[in-house]
Amino acid sequence: MEPNKEVIIIGGGIIGLATAHYLMENGLQVRLIEKNKLGGGASHGNCGLLYFTDLIPLCAPGAVSHEIVRTLLGTSPLYIKPGLDFNLYYWLMKFAMNCTPGHRTQSAKDKLDILNYSESLFKDLLADKNLTCELEKKGYLTVFKSQKNFDNYHKTNEFLNEFGLCYKPLDKEALSSLEPALSNGVIGAWFNETDWHLRPDRLIEAWHHLLVKKGLVIEENCEVLDFNIQNNSIQSINTSRGEFAADVFVLATGAWSPQLADQLNFNLPVQPGKGYSITLERPEISPQRPCILYEKNMVVTPWKSGFRLGGTMEFSGYGTQLNPKRLKKLVAGAKEYMKPSQGHAEGHTVVEEWSSLRPMTYDDMPIIDRSPNQENLFIGTGHGMLGLTLASGTGKILSDMICGSTPEVDVKPYAISRF
Ligand SMILES: Cc1cc2nc3c(=O)[nH]c(=O)nc-3n(C[C@H](O)[C@H](O)[C@H](O)COP(=O)(O)OP(=O)(O)OC[C@H]3O[C@@H](n4cnc5c(N)ncnc54)[C@H](O)[C@@H]3O)c2cc1C
Repeated sequence: MEPNKEVIIIGGGIIGLATAHYLMENGLQVRLIEKNKLGGGASHGNCGLLYFTDLIPLCAPGAVSHEIVRTLLGTSPLYIKPGLDFNLYYWLMKFAMNCTPGHRTQSAKDKLDILNYSESLFKDLLADKNLTCELEKKGYLTVFKSQKNFDNYHKTNEFLNEFGLCYKPLDKEALSSLEPALSNGVIGAWFNETDWHLRPDRLIEAWHHLLVKKGLVIEENCEVLDFNIQNNSIQSINTSRGEFAADVFVLATGAWSPQLADQLNFNLPVQPGKGYSITLERPEISPQRPCILYEKNMVVTPWKSGFRLGGTMEFSGYGTQLNPKRLKKLVAGAKEYMKPSQGHAEGHTVVEEWSSLRPMTYDDMPIIDRSPNQENLFIGTGHGMLGLTLASGTGKILSDMICGSTPEVDVKPYAISRF
């Protein structure tokens, strides 16, 4: 595509921002339209892991039976709101059908490419001193309270070995000398020594300022309402702040993407998966790296400027109101794994309690493609638990597609036609 053409990106989350970055590198003019505040969706309060080794999809063998048992025990981080939502039940059925060894292997192969690609792009991007976001490359720990679960994790490690990845088992003693903030109740951990973490809200803020300096136009508090279409091509969009025209459009509205896709007569099987986080002032003694608390399915992430507890997965529609029960569960979970007053909410100033919606697909793979109906519309959504991690790869692929270059990774696994 020739320079000077204008692209409108709908959705100011990390995917929209990354796409704007690469389009602008190619000399295109970009306007980003956000219904609330830039980065105010799922990209704001997430756990900040750049989880480049996360090959195993959520729909893994045994995932459904495991969650049923945990629901009965009252320890599941999953909640499905009862009701008559046909789309949700269809989505859950398809998710369950994907919980097979075959899907796990195929998905890991497909994900490996985009994870490696995103890592190499982030290496260059985050070398820019202007993108200060408390980046650290200390790996993360998957921490266990149950010996049986710890031992079983061998199988996960063996699976990862097939893809050249390797986690290191740490017994209680080794773990406590690496992370003295963890409680005596933990029995060990598997150590991923390579992944990174950063503070997502700081990244959005820094990237926002950098791109605006380079000419990005941002319209905040501007909701896209509908489209003006001629001959299968979008001419302009109508928003709460008037009409905007462009040559090309990108749909990057995260969990909200199906609402606009419906208007454009195509189906995006994306369900909102609600997650929560609590951000605290950093305790004096805190873990040095993110810890996944295995039995609680939650993450604690430390940064120089703070400390975050995050997790839960609620399928309960589009509401983002805070449920105090879920917040309490995060605090109680952290308390079980941390020494008293070291990195759980009690005794520390709470800076923010937050929830938002992850864009979940039933095969746990993102959707990065051209619209099946409108020739000048491109789509980047469905990143589930990995939107931050995959943002650079997604943005670059979309920019290549729009500019008429062949993407540097095979994009078939992310095509809409797979549904
Ligand atoms: C608790 C939690 C922890 C997580 N931890 C991690 C992690 O450690 N690592 C990781 O990689 N990922 C993590 N994730 C997932 C990650 O946050 C998401 O995958 C990612 O933020 C999705 O980005 P996005 O840009 O697609 O969506 P969003 O950030 O939600 O952005 C979409 C934007 O579109 C806007 N929008 C919607 N409709 C319209 C409209 N009609 N007009 C204009 N604008 C509109 C919304 O307001 C929103 O700002 C986590 C998520 C949660 C909830």
